[in-house]
Amino acid sequence: MEQALYIYNTLTRKKEVFHPLHAPHVGMYVCGPTVYGDAHLGHARPAITFDIVFRFLQHIGYKVRYVRNITDVGHLEHDADEGEDKIAKKARLEQLEPMEVAQNYINRFHEAMDALGCLPPSIEPHASGHIIEQQLLVKEIMDNGFAYESNGSIYFDVEKYNQKYHYGILSGRNLENVKDASRELAGVGEKRNQADFALWKAAQPEHIMRWPSPWSDGFPGWHCECTAMGRKYLGNHFDIHGGGMDLVFPHHECEIAQSVASQGDQMVAYWMHNNMITIDGQKMGKSLGNFITLPQFFAGNHPKLERAYSPMTIRFFILQAHYRSTVDFSNEALQAAEKGLERLLDAWKALSSIQPSKEGSVGMDKVEALRQSCYDAMYDDFNTPIVISHLFDAAKTINGIADKKDTITAEVLEALKDTFHTFAFDLMGLKAGVHAAAGDGSSAREEAFGKVVDMLLEQRSKAKANKDWATSDMIRDNLAALGFEVKDTKDGFSWKLNK
Ligand SMILES: [Zn+2]
Repeated sequence: MEQALYIYNTLTRKKEVFHPLHAPHVGMYVCGPTVYGDAHLGHARPAITFDIVFRFLQHIGYKVRYVRNITDVGHLEHDADEGEDKIAKKARLEQLEPMEVAQNYINRFHEAMDALGCLPPSIEPHASGHIIEQQLLVKEIMDNGFAYESNGSIYFDVEKYNQKYHYGILSGRNLENVKDASRELAGVGEKRNQADFALWKAAQPEHIMRWPSPWSDGFPGWHCECTAMGRKYLGNHFDIHGGGMDLVFPHHECEIAQSVASQGDQMVAYWMHNNMITIDGQKMGKSLGNFITLPQFFAGNHPKLERAYSPMTIRFFILQAHYRSTVDFSNEALQAAEKGLERLLDAWKALSSIQPSKEGSVGMDKVEALRQSCYDAMYDDFNTPIVISHLFDAAKTINGIADKKDTITAEVLEALKDTFHTFAFDLMGLKAGVHAAAGDGSSAREEAFGKVVDMLLEQRSKAKANKDWATSDMIRDNLAALGFEVKDTKDGFSWKLNK
């Protein structure tokens, strides 16, 4: 922590030196998924962005509590105050209990995040498990006079709030812009003004997800959960709140209004937002036919995909752009990322087989400069593309030594390994290969693992030849449980590890 960490704060629109409220502790809240469908590329970006923040803050000595919520209730279609709950709708269409829908997509989300190398957050609270906290928040806002009841629903009174505070402080809007933007929309319905937003919604008779409250049987408005759960787990004031840029308005703007209206001031010191991913220059959308889920990327089964892309390729592709820049997906871009990633991983492999010499043409100063440049990039608002460009330079140096054009002493070699490992694996979170869970990429280890699997499968072939089906099935099933996919081929078998 001897170097100043700069973070771009959406609230002040500038890079600021990061001063945590209670160092060495840091509280970070990131908006998580609404679990009614598979995660897509748009979910991968915030997950990876804040995984980098989480890793780096810990690396430089902070104790980070990273909270990422699961929205399993209250997120209505089109992010509006009317319409059906996204999860309840899916449940109705598939004749499932809403929590079955949520759990299924939570499990699949976790699998995808794990594949992408994202560390699990410290706490992952569910909106449906914090109804009481959300009701208390609504009550506080009502008691302070910034909310009103209408037909059993409670709305935030934006007009009244804006007389005292500034509604639009985060997104740079003012109430007049907001009103102009929402004028074309349908009438105000139960609300006094179109800009007002729901804190509590009375449930229609057919609505299945509902809880009792002093106002009606209903469910909380979408914006409440993050304010209520952020406060519960990180306190009235905490350091970082993150999410995608598409959440700045209305979601995060409403969160600020809720915290100010309830406790009199803002909760969050640094607002961080990652930019969006476009596909062939277009916004991703279900209606545009360019909506590709992460499992589809991993399997290559979408018409837009020329083939499958590994989770690490996707991670690397995302990290090759700064989190505040836009990223445009195309097959060419992903294939280029894949080649780049291979180049780095090959350099790492080469590094492990380099023999040191007594005298070295690559000096310690070169490795120290590499290390410092990588740190400088990370301390400058988590500039991952710059770190990666330095790692490519390091790869050139490594290849030069491997090709015997240069030499390196044992001490400098150790420092180079350590620097490469720190930035490529510990901080960028890349994994060296499916067999190398620890990210050490040792080819000798991979080979040994592979031979063990081959050996087992040869036993299985023998068992099959002897019509010993029990043994043959047991070997296949046990391997499958470990994530190995075994295929019988003309000349025997083939296998791969789906991890
Ligand atoms: Zn949120």
